[in-house]
Amino acid sequence: MRRCPLCHSDNTARFFADKKRCLYHCHQCQLVFADANSHLPPSAEQQKYRLANNKQKALSRFMLELVEQCDDGHTPLLGLNFGRTLDNKTLSKINKKGHQLNQYDPSIAPWSRSLKQEYDFICCYRVFEHFRFPFKEWELLTQMLKPSGWLAICTPLLSDLDAFEKWHHKNNLTHVSFYQQATFEFLANKGAFKLLFAANGLILVQKPSGSDITRDQTSVVA
Ligand SMILES: [Zn+2]
Repeated sequence: MRRCPLCHSDNTARFFADKKRCLYHCHQCQLVFADANSHLPPSAEQQKYRLANNKQKALSRFMLELVEQCDDGHTPLLGLNFGRTLDNKTLSKINKKGHQLNQYDPSIAPWSRSLKQEYDFICCYRVFEHFRFPFKEWELLTQMLKPSGWLAICTPLLSDLDAFEKWHHKNNLTHVSFYQQATFEFLANKGAFKLLFAANGLILVQKPSGSDITRDQTSVVA
């Protein structure tokens, strides 16, 4: 038994094992996660992460669509690109529309001042699968959203537990957390967030607009 790194439940079971690692399934939040003993050393993980940083075009498309969705035509937006770095051309397109985008890339810096602000939208493009203790990032990201702010996540959703063995996405050892649609339903319900969409690898979550949001500052990553 392993404690779930997302919802902290002990209701987990060994789910899959191959020569390289063992994975567990949480019965509460439906996360499938890699045994922490199999996590790559940080240096090896960073190297793989940098090598895999070939998603620029897709990230650019994803970001521009997100900005368009959030843009009401007259309010300047403050956004955060969490986990990757966008090319300068796309960044200047966003700036020209009057919006500002901060960027945080963990392979460059472990902590950034940009994480201490509040955002109209946050984009997490193909990074959720790399989170070893996703509770930490989920808390941080949702706290950084302004009321009614949007969190847009792109991560391949695990749609069929029975087909996990053949799912190529699991073969990359830097992928350590695998989410199902039900995982995001669980997270949204827990924080009274609106889950606007969760399919085809795209997850859109909106923070409630009321003032009934509790903030637990102790859980912010330091
Ligand atoms: Zn869980």
